[in-house]
Amino acid sequence: MRISVTDRCNLRCRYCMPEHGVELKEHREILRLEEIQRIVDISTRVGIRKVRLTGGEPLIRRNIPELVSMIAATKKIDDIALTTNGVLFPRMAAELKDAGLDRINLSLDTLNASKYCYITRNGQLPVAIEALQVALQSGLHPVKINTVIIKGFNDDEIMDFCRLAYDAPIHVRFIEFMPIGEINFWQEDKIISCDEIRAQIEDRYKLIPWKISRGNGPAKCYRMEGGQGSVGFITPMSNHFCKECNRLRLTADGKLRGCLYSNSEIDLKPALRDGTDEDVLELIIKAINAKPDRHQMGKERWGQDNRKMYQIGG
Ligand code: SAM
Ligand code: SF4
Repeated sequence: MRISVTDRCNLRCRYCMPEHGVELKEHREILRLEEIQRIVDISTRVGIRKVRLTGGEPLIRRNIPELVSMIAATKKIDDIALTTNGVLFPRMAAELKDAGLDRINLSLDTLNASKYCYITRNGQLPVAIEALQVALQSGLHPVKINTVIIKGFNDDEIMDFCRLAYDAPIHVRFIEFMPIGEINFWQEDKIISCDEIRAQIEDRYKLIPWKISRGNGPAKCYRMEGGQGSVGFITPMSNHFCKECNRLRLTADGKLRGCLYSNSEIDLKPALRDGTDEDVLELIIKAINAKPDRHQMGKERWGQDNRKMYQIGG
């Protein structure tokens, strides 16, 4: 279960969030930490074992270490991960680890300071690099980097990211650019398929198929012969993995989605606030059964009124 704990963010990545005019949810619309934990607890009855906290930027929500420890104390949950832009991570790393966080994905699309500043609309690369260094020292394992490859923006840096994963135990996940979120920034010709990315890498490195000890998700992963980390490819556009997708997404305002790209959502809040655990469970099962056979990205257009990535939880 991927849980968006907030739809707010301290960056404004061009493909994810608009610069201005972000509509903020009222406090009572957002799930309380106890409500999130209750949903996680109930969902273990239908097999949920792994939780990822995301957003928006999860670390800007207050008391996230407390939420991590509440989830860590939930019976049957055996893996808690975090997806973050890293800005607040260095100052929170120890507390998060102590609370029971298992692993982390840092989003980093470029290793060039001015490009980083551009794509995040003012983010500072040294801050993200510090987050990466702290993650490596924190004992969280594995440390992954999410890199969305966008033609004309960072496709010239694929080998730089490989070098990072070669030299250190860093696991880079190249993600195909999806037509979701700030759709004005997306264009079909900005997509680079993971086959193209892999071909480029194979010119330099021998890739050896590999499974990380935990948290492979939909990525196809490879070690580079002689290297310390790995590279992985997430191919929602060129080769969808919907058949194997077992994810549920919980939005910050309590809606359960079976698919990132489908607008169909089930509101858990009424049952959560006025109903029993059984009522909530019934809705979770309904959301699982409503998972579509496959996403329709590329066939249907993402409308301007669709929820953005930061509102769904990436
Ligand atoms: N703020 C956190 C972060 O950036 O890691 C968590 C939320 S963010 C929405 C989660 C991930 O979604 C990020 O790695 C981001 O790059 C990715 N993402 C957002 N929009 C995307 C798109 N259109 N295509 C592919 N990945 C996208
Ligand atoms: Fe914020 Fe993450 Fe979206 Fe960037 S990708 S705007 S850091 S939520």
